[in-house]
Amino acid sequence: MISEQREGLRRIRSRRLRLWSGISLGFTLLIAASWMHRVWLALFALGCTVGVGIYLAIRASRARCPRCAQYFHSPSADPSLRRLLTTRCLHCGLPLSADRVVYPSME
Ligand SMILES: [Zn+2]
Repeated sequence: MISEQREGLRRIRSRRLRLWSGISLGFTLLIAASWMHRVWLALFALGCTVGVGIYLAIRASRARCPRCAQYFHSPSADPSLRRLLTTRCLHCGLPLSADRVVYPSME
């Protein structure tokens, strides 16, 4: 695996981590605000969670595979939000953790 592919996989993992972290943090704030009976704060947290979640999901869905340069999470030529949990490129099958394999023959 060449260094550009490692960097590309690291970027895809980073985008995915930001997506799930942002959604988790937003829902945590929403639960905390509703627990404190702060309706406006809860609505604000919900709006921020939805807005930031949509932005991060679109950003994650547009990540390109470092090997085949197609959209990593989409089997077609257009980006898709439906398969953001996939761990392999839907075009060439490159695993998301391919650069973490110590012994490539055991992959
Ligand atoms: Zn690929």
